[in-house]
Amino acid sequence: MSKAVRVRDVVIGGGAPVRVQGMTKSDTRDVKATVDEILRYVDVGCEIVRVAVPDMEAAQAVGSVVKHSPIPVVADIHFDYRLALEVIRQGVDKLRLNPGNIGSRERVEAVVQAAKEREIPIRIGVNSGSIEKGLLADLGRTAETMVASAAKHIQILNDLDYDNIVVSLKASDVPTMVAAYRLMAQRYDYPLHLGVTEAGTLFQGTVKSSVGLGILLNEGIGDTIRISLTAPGEEEIRVAWEILKSLKLRERGANLVACPTCGRLQFDMWPVTNELERRLATIQEPITVAVMGCAVNGPGEAREADVGLAGGKNHGLIFRHGQIKRRVEQADMVEELWKEIQDAAEEVRAR
Ligand code: SF4
Repeated sequence: MSKAVRVRDVVIGGGAPVRVQGMTKSDTRDVKATVDEILRYVDVGCEIVRVAVPDMEAAQAVGSVVKHSPIPVVADIHFDYRLALEVIRQGVDKLRLNPGNIGSRERVEAVVQAAKEREIPIRIGVNSGSIEKGLLADLGRTAETMVASAAKHIQILNDLDYDNIVVSLKASDVPTMVAAYRLMAQRYDYPLHLGVTEAGTLFQGTVKSSVGLGILLNEGIGDTIRISLTAPGEEEIRVAWEILKSLKLRERGANLVACPTCGRLQFDMWPVTNELERRLATIQEPITVAVMGCAVNGPGEAREADVGLAGGKNHGLIFRHGQIKRRVEQADMVEELWKEIQDAAEEVRAR
């Protein structure tokens, strides 16, 4: 089992549930936009959020972001140790920083000392696209190289008697990334933050991330996850949760059961399921909603669910806990189902 590391009030590793991380896409210097984005992420289940800190103005904005963020904030720093010192001063909850990239030993020492004093963990983030030239020349761009790079950064921190470490080894190539994390998990017990980097668009990135993270999580490797998509950050959080839910590692929110539709369908079902999926992302109670196209499998699935709909010709029958409640016309389906879903969620809360 990995070690436990505390980030504000969230424990990662040490047997804690696998945590869902997000990263804001707003300019961190714009505190309002960044905080609004974090709050939207929290609504869909984000538990730790990273913000980019490209310059001193962004570093100085981090204090206000942390103050208004209900979840721990991680500062993403590259090269400039002064930015690291400033975000620590501003009260950030964790750093993402590679100590080998911030210059002299004195600079690293200054950052590590400040992180120690505030008990802030540091995530070493190796990315296959930016491995040190020396290692690349010796070993090539392989999983072993990525682990060797992480080992160098870890050694720098260990030499300064610092052990509050999380590690990530992201690659856009899924087999390389899987191999790197497996090696890392064999050799170290630091908590691992999983991700497929530059995974791509919503569709491609979701598939790549699900395959890569799914393999590792199923082997018990990984303590936090981030899905990187060229899409709004809320989508990254939703995908992360679906991966964890599919593997039964975490439970959160509604499970939408929907048939794929076929030639028996007699109402316009896709807009209904698409809109429900969007709204269900805000439901935190573990309820099951079934939307089924016709009478073949529809009533059976709809009866099993907390809220169900079995379709007919331009209409559907709404089920609650196995009982038919009423008939709804196509135009009213979403709103009528939504009322039942909110009611079912309320029931769970009241239990
Ligand atoms: Fe087709 Fe009906 Fe099955 Fe949906 S529930 S896939 S519409 S047979």
